[in-house]
Amino acid sequence: MSKYIALPRGVDEAAFDRAIAEFKAIVGAPHVLHTAEDLAPFLKIMIPAQIEAHAPSAAIAPANVDEVQRILAVCNRYKTPVWPISTGKNFGYGSAAPATRGQIILDLKRMNRIIEVDPDLCTALVESGVTYQQLYDYIKERKLPLWIDPPIPGPVAGPLGNTVERGVGYTPYGEHFLFSCGMEVVLADGQVLRTGMGAMPNSNTWQVFKWGYGPTLDGIFTQSNFGIVTKLGLWLMPAPPAYKPFVVRYPEHADIAKAIDTVRPLRIAQIIPNAGTVSNALWELAVINRRADLYPKAGPIPDATVLDLARKHGVGAWNVYTALYGTEESIAANWKIVTAAFKASGGTVLTQEDIGPNDPLFNYRRDVMRGELTMQEFGLYNWRGGGGSMWFSPVSQARGSETLKQMGLAKRVLDKYAIDYVGLFVIGWRDMHHIIDILYDRSQPEEMTKAHRCYDELLDDFAREGYGVYRTNIDFMSKVANLYGPVKAKVNRRIKQALDPNGILAPGKSGIGG
Ligand code: ADP
Repeated sequence: MSKYIALPRGVDEAAFDRAIAEFKAIVGAPHVLHTAEDLAPFLKIMIPAQIEAHAPSAAIAPANVDEVQRILAVCNRYKTPVWPISTGKNFGYGSAAPATRGQIILDLKRMNRIIEVDPDLCTALVESGVTYQQLYDYIKERKLPLWIDPPIPGPVAGPLGNTVERGVGYTPYGEHFLFSCGMEVVLADGQVLRTGMGAMPNSNTWQVFKWGYGPTLDGIFTQSNFGIVTKLGLWLMPAPPAYKPFVVRYPEHADIAKAIDTVRPLRIAQIIPNAGTVSNALWELAVINRRADLYPKAGPIPDATVLDLARKHGVGAWNVYTALYGTEESIAANWKIVTAAFKASGGTVLTQEDIGPNDPLFNYRRDVMRGELTMQEFGLYNWRGGGGSMWFSPVSQARGSETLKQMGLAKRVLDKYAIDYVGLFVIGWRDMHHIIDILYDRSQPEEMTKAHRCYDELLDDFAREGYGVYRTNIDFMSKVANLYGPVKAKVNRRIKQALDPNGILAPGKSGIGG
């Protein structure tokens, strides 16, 4: 019996003992974890994967870039791979667990300095472990007129980890990678690369001009294992003088088409500038109810029953949550355009005044669309209970007929596995991130199997129609990478070989290496 819960592939226990001793000498013994008890927090996952397949061998928490470099030197010598995490809250995609068994988690949470927030240029430079809460507090304490753009696990997650995963938020700066500017990356051989203008000695334009000179490299360090990102530049939104959130409710399932065709031109023209959401009735109901209280049977909830429940609880079959930003005058002018368009499409437009102050569903959207932190949406996890959640997130055109088609594709597979269609569309600039929360009871082995099969089939059915997901969990990375075709896979392999010949950075991440 090994004293480790897992070992890196091809590394024996005696060699790993020596590597661990070297890691302890670099970061200090308290920052190297390797007992089952100490590693338990890293084994908590919500996806329907067997944790044995993703058990780490250790977790190391360096304090600075120098320690990261020295850790990588040891890794290259012993061929022990590391899986970097920043805040480690990648819920529904694998949380903190590595893609393959035996990797060492490189936990960057101690590198959590907010290096700079520039109130004139509205930029920030943060380290990997900075949380959205920390950045929010920093801005509030200094009374800076700036907004952040948190994703749903906002308070506990962080801008660097979320952005390198290409996550989204809900303000006009919702597409996180688009609003990042400049990275610092530690490469597998220990060299430190600064992207864009950061490569220029003494530059003060790293956070204001993305491209620098020559090939732009930032993208290859997102959803990848080509380097460890240790600093990230962000653009922050200036707090507008006025803000008006609203919801538009539609009564029928097929109304998704009307909702999207109405929102698209307004979004492209920036009259509606933010990454709002279009959520279905079950999403609304699931955030604040338990399934057993609304529908005490096991099978799929019939469409007609969903509509009955929606009416009873005052939510739409589809619900567009979005907002106007600007001055009182500009909002008044745009409000006329927006309300006319939504009303013409059959939607009911409601503001906070119409809804009242105490609607938790409206209030959490109001908050996230202006960069406030809330955990309200975690209510989704009580819908089924049992701690199981996995995001299926295909990309769609922002076109009504397309979202209707995706709804049909998804429902066919979900119904087959008796998994509820708890879904929403995040409004991109020309795309929709179609986000479905596969909620299941993780304590039931047959539910695990069912959820896993369901996701697999969804991937296949969507791929057959040419639809791919924008992000996936640690159990499906190779499959999704393969769906994107052989040429992309080959290019990824070549870059990996050039930058990380020993394969020590996150093997298996996004289907690369491992
Ligand atoms: P969050 O807590 O914001 O959801 P995580 O820290 O869980 O983000 O990171 C999500 C994923 O992004 C990780 O599993 C890892 O694959 C990748 N990642 C996180 N931090 C880094 C980093 N500093 N460099 C490279 N990849 C990273």
